Amino acid sequence: DEKHRIERIASSIRVIPNFPKPGIMFQDITTLLLDPKAFGDTVELFVERFRDQRISVVAGVEARGFIFGPPIALAIGAKFVPLRKPKKLPGEVISEEYSLEYGTDKIEMHVGAVQPNDRAIVIDDLIATGGTLCAAVKLLERVGAVVVECACVIELPELNVS
Ligand code: AMP
Repeated sequence: DEKHRIERIASSIRVIPNFPKPGIMFQDITTLLLDPKAFGDTVELFVERFRDQRISVVAGVEARGFIFGPPIALAIGAKFVPLRKPKKLPGEVISEEYSLEYGTDKIEMHVGAVQPNDRAIVIDDLIATGGTLCAAVKLLERVGAVVVECACVIELPELNVS
C-alpha cells in the first residue's frame, strides 16, 4: 500500500549532517537510487497522481529534478523540459532570478520548449524555502503555461517558508 511504499522511500534516503556547510542536514537521494524498488515506487507515486490530469510538460529543476522528471514524463506521455543553471542551455533562453540565504541564483528555460496551451508540473527532489520552485513556476507562467502542481520527493517541514 501507499503508506508502506512511502516508508520504504523515506528510509532509503540518507541524511548527512553538516553538508555542504555546518548546520545543513543534507538529504542524499543517491541512496534511494541504489534501491530499484524505492526508486520505482517514487516514480510510480507521481505517475499515479498525474496520469489523468492531461499534463503535457514535466519541467525538471537541475540537477536532481533531472533524475526524477524524465521517467515520470515518459510514463504519462508528456514532454520533459530541463530548467537549468545559467549558461548551460545553448539556445535562446528566458531566466528567473531567486534569492538564497546569501546572494541570488538563477534558472533558465529554452524559449519554444513550452507553449501557452501547455499544462505543466514541476519536479525537484526537495523543497526547503520554495524559492527554487517559485522561480520555476514563474518561468512556465511567463510563456503562458498552466502550472498544475509542483511535486518533490522530500519536504523539509521544520523550515519556515517565506
Ligand atoms: P529551496 O529553493 O530553498 O526550496 O531549496 C530547494 C533546493 O535546494 C532543491 O533543489 C534542493 O535540491 C536543494 N536543497 C535545499 N536544502 C537541501 C537539503 N537539506 N538537502 C538536500 N538538498 C537541499
